[in-house]
Amino acid sequence: MDAKILIVEDEKDIARMLDYNLKKEGYRTLLLHDGSFAAAAAAKERPSLILLDLMLPGLDGLEICRRLKMDVRTASIPIIMLTAKGGESDKVVGLEMGADDYITKPFSVKELLARVKAVLRRSTAAVEAQEIYRAGEIELDCNRVLVKLRGKPLDLAAREFELLKALMLAGGKLLSREALLEKAWGLDASLEVETRTVDVHVGTLRKKLGAEGRRVVTVKNYGYRFDK
Ligand code: CA
Repeated sequence: MDAKILIVEDEKDIARMLDYNLKKEGYRTLLLHDGSFAAAAAAKERPSLILLDLMLPGLDGLEICRRLKMDVRTASIPIIMLTAKGGESDKVVGLEMGADDYITKPFSVKELLARVKAVLRRSTAAVEAQEIYRAGEIELDCNRVLVKLRGKPLDLAAREFELLKALMLAGGKLLSREALLEKAWGLDASLEVETRTVDVHVGTLRKKLGAEGRRVVTVKNYGYRFDK
């Protein structure tokens, strides 16, 4: 987990608590105690998530939120607003400004970490959802779990799809059979499934891809790579 989280919080105790607990969970953190440069810092650092206090010296959280959402470099970064006020209107305004979630102080570490995880999971899914990869006549649509060959949907088994996805996403890098097993069959599969199974599925995948199957290149005694 190498997500980078920008914390903008002027209350030192809360900021330290957030910083400490997020680091403990394996996140990288950036800490700002003032709102003035928060938007600029976000544009430069491109964090995976921003924890944004509402009441800040310099610039308040809502204004920062508005600026972040207007800037193409930061518009897609999810924001969790931290608010001391329990007022519904603040939450509504924050969400209207594009915040993804809010959490009301005082909050527990457990609650905060759960929100952080949920927001990061959603945003990762959203980014992956948009991704379409193309090579020659092949179009791989991760969102719809669909492969098209020359514009027509190709009937692939789930493992064949996952194999093709792993190969295409590796960007020409060599993948060992073990690595492919892990990616297409899941982490624990290497204990139960033989690496030979990968060869069998690559064989059927190649056949279904027709002439484009040549892009799946066998690297003898090692594994496979995908030629774009
Ligand atoms: Ca504050």
